[in-house]
Amino acid sequence: MRTAAIVAAGGHGQRFGGVRPKQLYEVGGRAVLERSVALLLEHPAVDEVVVALPPEVLADPPPYLRVSVKPLRLVPGGARRQDSVSNAFAATSDDIDVVVIHDAVRPFASADLVSRTIAAAVESGAAVAALAARDTIKRVRHAGDASAAFVQETLPRSEMYLAQTPQAFTRRVLRDALALVEQGHDVTDEATLAERAGHPVRVVEGELSNIKITLPADLPVAEVIAREGSATSSAPFRVGTGYDLHRLVDGRPLILGGVPIAFDRGLQGHSDADVVCHAITDAVLGAASAGDIGRHFPDTDPRYANASSLDLLRQAMEIVRDRGLSVINVDVVVVAEKPKVAPYIDAMCARLAEFMGVDASCISIKGKTNEGVDATGRGEAIATHAVALLCKRSQ
Ligand code: MG
Repeated sequence: MRTAAIVAAGGHGQRFGGVRPKQLYEVGGRAVLERSVALLLEHPAVDEVVVALPPEVLADPPPYLRVSVKPLRLVPGGARRQDSVSNAFAATSDDIDVVVIHDAVRPFASADLVSRTIAAAVESGAAVAALAARDTIKRVRHAGDASAAFVQETLPRSEMYLAQTPQAFTRRVLRDALALVEQGHDVTDEATLAERAGHPVRVVEGELSNIKITLPADLPVAEVIAREGSATSSAPFRVGTGYDLHRLVDGRPLILGGVPIAFDRGLQGHSDADVVCHAITDAVLGAASAGDIGRHFPDTDPRYANASSLDLLRQAMEIVRDRGLSVINVDVVVVAEKPKVAPYIDAMCARLAEFMGVDASCISIKGKTNEGVDATGRGEAIATHAVALLCKRSQ
């Protein structure tokens, strides 16, 4: 299945005022248009992007519209929104199955919202991101000179949704919808056209932060969202570190990285005391800002007495995956005066990879001694340091 994205950026923003089109204003140090285009260019489900621009922008496009890793076409916007979208639709490739349309002035939609809208359109033909109304909605009638308005009726709030973009359509549905433009239908979004063309339009739960920058007063709000986004959700990589140490005692088996190691002593602890698993567990949880091993698997909880640390690591990986993160790689240093861990490294990587659901090549383990210094150097304990790099899954 191939998907095209259309960014509707043809408007001049009469309501916005100002000396340049509102989509060229910067929020959080980046133009609103650049953010919206990047959302779609970087989206794994999108194969090409068409941007409808005002003529003055098209004549001298900003640098971020000049080069791209995916096909990126610039077309002239029309007098009305639907004219811009029609122009852009005409510029999509012939083999496109689905088209997702997004307002340039909604720079904070998430990749997940784009994914959900596309998926709903594939299933139902047409889909629109929309937020359930939180305010009570009144239909009003304007008095003669429009300076006063009177409530005509109160609409049932539970049935009211506020439409956003993205909106997505199969090619056939969008063609039917845009055919109405030529018949003179004047609308504020494409979902209305699809609806008028007789196609069911599915609602996808929108996002509160997916604001439309329409008025100058929206800019300070946009700055706040941009700042929060750059601090948390927009960065694709997350790093985490983990450390653990257990004492070596008589009468316990030694298990490192899930592998039994031939040695005359083992590590003391509530569970199997596998320091390698514990350090990696803390590193992946840390990268996800999801607390630590002690919080999820407290050693005061009898369920975890003699628990396999591999199982705890597997559960930690589920927590991490639930937060939309995947492990890129893990690097581990095992500090042990004795025994030598080198002969067991391949077996440890394979075992850890199996329980983490990653390829063994994502895991590196190195053995170090502590040169006779400290408790680890005197052979009283084994310690482990781990670092994990995680990446946000884009869908
Ligand atoms: Mg531990």
